[in-house]
Amino acid sequence: MKIAVAGAGAMGGRFGYMLSEAGFDVTLIDQWKPHVEAIRERGFEISYNGQDVVAKIPIFFPEEAVSKGMEFDLVILLTKSMQLDGMLAAIKPIVTNPKTFNICLLNGIGHERVVEKYVAKTNSILGNTLFTAGLVGPGKIKLQNTGTVEFSELHPNAKDMALKVVEVFKKAELNPIYSDDVFCTIYKKAILNATMNSLCTILDGNMHCVGTSPSAWPLFEGVVNEFAAIAAAEGIKFDKEEAITGIKKASDINGIGVHYPSMYQDLINQKRLTEADCITGYISEMGKKHGIATPYCDILTSMIHSKEELLKAE
Ligand code: NAD
Repeated sequence: MKIAVAGAGAMGGRFGYMLSEAGFDVTLIDQWKPHVEAIRERGFEISYNGQDVVAKIPIFFPEEAVSKGMEFDLVILLTKSMQLDGMLAAIKPIVTNPKTFNICLLNGIGHERVVEKYVAKTNSILGNTLFTAGLVGPGKIKLQNTGTVEFSELHPNAKDMALKVVEVFKKAELNPIYSDDVFCTIYKKAILNATMNSLCTILDGNMHCVGTSPSAWPLFEGVVNEFAAIAAAEGIKFDKEEAITGIKKASDINGIGVHYPSMYQDLINQKRLTEADCITGYISEMGKKHGIATPYCDILTSMIHSKEELLKAE
């Protein structure tokens, strides 16, 4: 299978590396000039579970990939959520090839609406991942721990490809799960991002500190209730108890509780814009659509955006 990874940052680098190590024909596509140049000059420098490796994977700017008339069986979309539209526009001739399928694995909710502006559902697969990946600098990433990738086709036409992707990801040890309810999977991860990521970022604490703060719990519960209301209105399965259990588990000091979530690291440490519009912001947007009040998500989204402004995040 000929695979392109569109957005070869931290997570795209992980997928590109693991797939190319498993012997697949992988091409990276990215627009970040110092990153592309570093990978071309020195190779992709990867700290992989504590071991330093250098991966030789071809990388192209979007306009180069387009002008060369590149064709792929599968395009793995892994930009940040607010960059997805720009990426799809930049590689439109590639993703709209009728023989090409795409799999969108970004965090957050509602990406299928952006993909559908460019590619018919017949060629689209949607999911998310519990792997993690850290961007160290141009051409350098750090990969630790393991994870899973859960996905499913958005149209019966893409089912054969989704099942092929399961086999490909298995060979690359990406631990694929063929989902029987991908929207439920997406909401399940997004609720943790909406609660923990937002509150740790606003309150300046790790997941243990925030998750064990009694005064934070009415906020967690408020967001969970809004997710449940929107999920019900959208006909998506959402288990409130499971969401609360997930937040408690993330607060465990002996588990991931010691960590600051990715939104904190992006915004507070690196002054990067967040994906809030596709997490709490998405719930607010759906609230307006369905006439459901979503005050907790509205306020959290505004506070995160205000923090972005105060920190001059880019
Ligand atoms: P990242 O910023 O490291 O990588 C995104 C890459 O996309 C960048 O290299 C950027 O240059 C490139 N890009 C953006 N727009 C482009 C365009 N128009 N043309 C070409 N290249 C473009 O982000 P990431 O951490 O890899 O995250 C990607 C997605 O994976 C996000 O939705 C994130 O929430 C999700 N995710 C990340 C992690 C993690 O640990 N990093 C974990 C789970 C999920």
